[in-house]
Amino acid sequence: MDSTDREICMGPWEGPGHETGAIAPPVFQTSLFAKPSFRVFVQQQAAEHTDYVYSRGTNPTVAFLEERLALLEGGEAAKCFGSGMGAISAVLAGLLDSGDHVLFVNDIYGPTLELAERLRAFGIEHTVLTEDTGPAAVEAHIRRNTVLVYVESPGTMRMKVLDLPAITAVARRRGVRTVMDNTWATPLFQKPLALGADIVVHSLTKYIGGHSDVVGGAVIGPEARIREVFYKGHQLFGSVMSAMEASMVLRGLRTLPVRMEEHQRNAERVIDYLAARPEVAAVHHPYAEHGPQEEITAKQFSGFSGLLSFELRDASFERVARFLDGLSLFRIGVSWGGYESLATSPLRPGNEAELRAKGFAPGTIRLSVGLEGAQRQIEDLEAAFAKL
Ligand SMILES: *Cc1c(COP(=O)(O)O)cnc(C)c1O
Repeated sequence: MDSTDREICMGPWEGPGHETGAIAPPVFQTSLFAKPSFRVFVQQQAAEHTDYVYSRGTNPTVAFLEERLALLEGGEAAKCFGSGMGAISAVLAGLLDSGDHVLFVNDIYGPTLELAERLRAFGIEHTVLTEDTGPAAVEAHIRRNTVLVYVESPGTMRMKVLDLPAITAVARRRGVRTVMDNTWATPLFQKPLALGADIVVHSLTKYIGGHSDVVGGAVIGPEARIREVFYKGHQLFGSVMSAMEASMVLRGLRTLPVRMEEHQRNAERVIDYLAARPEVAAVHHPYAEHGPQEEITAKQFSGFSGLLSFELRDASFERVARFLDGLSLFRIGVSWGGYESLATSPLRPGNEAELRAKGFAPGTIRLSVGLEGAQRQIEDLEAAFAKL
């Protein structure tokens, strides 16, 4: 993690009123911004993506967060949204037209694929590549009407890492833009734009917010693309981040560097522990990679977050439920990336075949390793294994 990133995360307020010395961002809790003359009003309304006119467009507190996120990702501009899905839907609806095709590469966050299914009703097609995700397979699946390659690395659940520079190079050569969901690593541990991606999306609900008390999303990329997403996606679909939420995400951002290092320390010890358990068939996380994948991983990540999965042997719904119910520090719940440790599983009564078809072992358990400390986390897992 570089020291510039730490300063970007921890930098004081620089927006309107900074001359007061306010360290924390003021919450501009206002829906509109009145103008001194009609002429100024007309000028600024024509530039709503940068000027303060209406808080569905641009708001100073939210704009400060956008500026920080753009700096961290090394992009020209950013736009925040009311949720990660708000950001993703604005990118897909904003950049695609009827007749276009999207190529999804890797295990993709479930609701993103549900959205892609929904977009079929509007004439937008897609393909999902999950097994062979190498650059040659990507190239072979790019069609004449492919407009976006959409990737997640590591992928959802199996945490497979993609060779991002190779994939983005293929897409670029074919005139296709790459969108990357960088929620897992955060910009502190992986910089997709530097690896050739054109647009980065985030759920700010996870590590960047970090306290499980706010839902938000962001899109980062070149100024012209963000403007397009702003006018065609953000303004029209209205998935808006409020000033209050932006100030909460900014509070999360200040401790992001220290939290991420601690998530990594804890996760590595938890992975070493799980890998040695006889009940565990496999652990999925970039830190647990060996062989050629290890080399790709080393080139792309400067650190690892605390979200991992593992496969319980002899899995049945009862056995997975017994394990999860045997935990107490790890709470059972959705989402991840907060200070608290969480556990869940994609297993439901009777969906084993569906999971296997996706390449997921039925005994898959996902852990979000929080900040309570590896010792306590391992003791908790130990207690749950003892109850199996
Ligand atoms: C949670 C999540 C999202 C969606 O974000 P929300 O803030 O829940 O809308 C998108 N991508 C990934 C990888 C996520 O984990």
